[in-house]
Amino acid sequence: MAIIYPTVSPLRCGFLSPPAKKFLADAREGEKLTMPSLSFLIVHPSTGSKIVFDLSIRKDLTKYHPGLQKHLATRHPLSSENDVKSALSLGHMDASEVDYVVLSHCHWDHIGTPSDFTSATFIAGHNTGKMLRNEMGPEFYNPFFEADLLPADRTVELPAVPSSRTGEVFDEKRGWYWQSLSPVQNVVDMFNDCTVYLVDSPGHLPGHLNLLVRISANKWVYLAADACHHVRILKGETDFGTWKDDQGQTVTIHKDLGAAYKTLNIMRKLQKEGLNGVPVQIVLAHDGEWEEKNLQHFFPNHL
Ligand SMILES: [Zn+2]
Repeated sequence: MAIIYPTVSPLRCGFLSPPAKKFLADAREGEKLTMPSLSFLIVHPSTGSKIVFDLSIRKDLTKYHPGLQKHLATRHPLSSENDVKSALSLGHMDASEVDYVVLSHCHWDHIGTPSDFTSATFIAGHNTGKMLRNEMGPEFYNPFFEADLLPADRTVELPAVPSSRTGEVFDEKRGWYWQSLSPVQNVVDMFNDCTVYLVDSPGHLPGHLNLLVRISANKWVYLAADACHHVRILKGETDFGTWKDDQGQTVTIHKDLGAAYKTLNIMRKLQKEGLNGVPVQIVLAHDGEWEEKNLQHFFPNHL
């Protein structure tokens, strides 16, 4: 029987305008980049499962941490008029129909409004709970994290990746375990049918997740979230941006720079060589050019 592959639909959500120097090594002084914060709907046909990858910007900005408001003021032009819930409604889908919400990481422009997803199981990377409760130590302290962001009874936090080649089953119900999918080191096969993989993609934050989806016999889509913020970095035209923090330390947008380069190089390899000979399209969460070129594929259509 022929395999019916999953579909990937980008969702029309919000946008923001951070300083370019946060991302690009060769940014001009004062330059701003207006960029989407992309979310995606993935439908897995044989189980009928609906997965949303990332929740973009929260529609009601006043529902973010009060302390975040000052930061948001520096990100204009910013819009949250469209969010995942409204994007789904364009295809007559209700947020309550979503089975899984996978969060790449817990920064404000990716967490949306989890309470809209009343039936979903939330999947988050290792240590996300600790991070949200600010129990990861001063290096990761973020006063804007929301300890109660995710519903405890409907959240699966992935365990640490194994130190040996493959891990033991950590979720009996779903048969989930860490395995390698060369050149990607650690993935979880969501439906045990080699079509949708959760990808450990560390660097930006610990536990950062990507999603790899087989959309046809000859195409994969790799949803890279914040593993890379600009396509010029992916192409090797420029490097990650740096700046000095309050203590005078040079920092980048990625907490673990060594891990971020490793993840970036795997993405470059996938883009260049494909996965077992099958081409891979890499899609970054904040790639406005990609959004412009792919508007015809947005939900209710698909890639
Ligand atoms: Zn982001």
